Amino acid sequence: MSTAASAVALLIVLSVAGGLFARRAHLLYRIVRLGKPVDRSGEVGRRVRNEATDVLGQRKLLQRLGPGLVHAFIFWGFVVLLPTIVMALLGAVDPDWTLPWLGHQGWFFLLVDVFCVLVLVGVVSAFLIRKVQRPPRFEGSHLGEADLILGLIALIVTTLLLWHASQIALGINEWPADWSPVSNAISTLMSQGEWLETRERIFVWAHVLTILGFLVYLPYSKHLHIATAGLNVWFGRTRRRGRLEPLDFEVEDEAALRLGSGTLVDMTWKQMLDTLSCTECGRCQDACPAWATGKALSPKLLVMGLRDRLFEEGPSVLAGGEASPLVPGAVTDDVVWDCVTCGACVRECPVSIEHVDHIVDLRRHLVMVESRFPSEAGTMLRDVGRSSNPWGKAQGERASWADGLDVRVLEPGDPPPDVLYWVGCAASFDERARESARATATLLLRAGLDVAILGPRESCTGDPARRMGDEYTFQAQAQQNVATLDEAGATRIVTSCPHCFNTIGNEYGDFGGSYEVVHHTELLAELLRDGRLEAPGGDAEITYHDSCYLARHNDVVGAPREIVSRIGKPLEMARNGKRTFCCGAGGAHMWMEERGAAINEERVREAAATGAETLAVACPFCTMMLDDGVKQAGAGMRVADVSVLLAEALDGGR
Ligand code: SF4
Ligand code: SF4
Repeated sequence: MSTAASAVALLIVLSVAGGLFARRAHLLYRIVRLGKPVDRSGEVGRRVRNEATDVLGQRKLLQRLGPGLVHAFIFWGFVVLLPTIVMALLGAVDPDWTLPWLGHQGWFFLLVDVFCVLVLVGVVSAFLIRKVQRPPRFEGSHLGEADLILGLIALIVTTLLLWHASQIALGINEWPADWSPVSNAISTLMSQGEWLETRERIFVWAHVLTILGFLVYLPYSKHLHIATAGLNVWFGRTRRRGRLEPLDFEVEDEAALRLGSGTLVDMTWKQMLDTLSCTECGRCQDACPAWATGKALSPKLLVMGLRDRLFEEGPSVLAGGEASPLVPGAVTDDVVWDCVTCGACVRECPVSIEHVDHIVDLRRHLVMVESRFPSEAGTMLRDVGRSSNPWGKAQGERASWADGLDVRVLEPGDPPPDVLYWVGCAASFDERARESARATATLLLRAGLDVAILGPRESCTGDPARRMGDEYTFQAQAQQNVATLDEAGATRIVTSCPHCFNTIGNEYGDFGGSYEVVHHTELLAELLRDGRLEAPGGDAEITYHDSCYLARHNDVVGAPREIVSRIGKPLEMARNGKRTFCCGAGGAHMWMEERGAAINEERVREAAATGAETLAVACPFCTMMLDDGVKQAGAGMRVADVSVLLAEALDGGR
């Protein structure tokens, strides 16, 4: 074929492929534009860093080295091979055309050969993982489509190698052949002769057509993450994982009032982009305590269900049609209520999908628009609103845990203390959790700190109501508490409860409350470091359970371990630190019936496997849940808050 004829042929296939791609991409763009606004601008430096680490560096994927490397080989390969696409387009028109400068660099073609091999290694390994190893995380994924994508990738690099080899065999390579060990070796297998010229044309065109076929298939397949993942990471959250986006009830235009996600048009554009970015890798599902204990919820299937709904209804909604309810159409009620908001899915997801926000938005709609929620949780919501605590106890009893301790109860107008101890509802009212409040207060007083509590003026932070989806109740609690804290002149607040820690520290800022909030383990570790408290050491074997809202949502991992190592011999569980496993109480599950196997028992079995005699915790909910779990599983361990263990060690044992 002459150069002119080749150019015309290329123009035709480029126009067809480009047109099909653009048509589909435009439809998807218009669907995402249907989404409600959410601000993901700003913090450009952080976003650039996320792209560098999570996309280019494949940080999250490499948390699992084997499968991570498989994906990284394929991804890095494509980054390196990008210029070869332009070279192939030029070469398809005329065998003598290539990119100026780069098309003559031996080092670049060495890289091309190396990465072609790595991509092939990656593809073969991915097939072996999917077909032979068959990890359960792929359960429910579209494996057929993934196989086709892998096959296309293998064909792209194979045709590239064959094209380069035929160029070398013909002697028309524009770079020194010695730099291409693989292509060079293949070229020696190719016989000379006129068929070689034909084969060179066949290989370059096969390469170009496979790439264009891949381009067209991608946006029509459920694996379009190749095009969207980088964008989704860019627009990912830059603030703490534990913070939920507040709803704006004061919005002037009533049509703009958003009460969670009822249909797809209520979703934000980021949530829509999330669904288009899912790779179906199942890392979220693998880490999910609900899925691990046989419940209906899989965060992967949730995202896939929402994406299916987008594909099904998006075009008709754009044409003026009505959208149907997401629950139970796209996801079932059970799926929505199974979540403990532990954030394991969000942390594991390599493409920055924000599952917890999706789930809470679905709950918000069910609770605030349809009044539809597990009946047992309704009592909790009512008690938070009426009694300012989820157990419906009298506020007058709030400070009775401190009877006999010399803890100042702040009255309006009193001078502010150095440290305000925010006790939280659990440690105020539950007998097991109260032990930790007593130990914490005793230790802070012993260290000579000026510490005070709010007593009956303290009210539920609203965390369980918010995670349940009742944003009204949460915001009412938040506004009341911010006013109380501001009046008290609180600047440094210590909390025992990681949920209070998260809510006051990360979420009250949206309601005008700005405070330095520390967890009691952080403050106690600080006092030990400063020598204001002295731990005598010990040899009891202690395994520490990380609370999701402390470790994963807020990165507090070192302080509790510092204390444990000062009073005993620490033993780590298999899942620890930011990759901890939930106790089962988050997301308001403290007040819901659990279906399927118990999450707390699963965690207790893991703790017992360490051989430790004590299970240390740093959260009143974990204390209650794991204490119950120990009893139900017959594990024979003692569950105690780190503060209780420290106080005992200072007193020379129980
Ligand atoms: S937050 Fe936890 S429970 Fe909820 S979907 Fe994610 S991993 Fe599962
Ligand atoms: S949501 Fe994220 S972690 Fe889960 S399957 Fe999709 S890409 Fe993988």
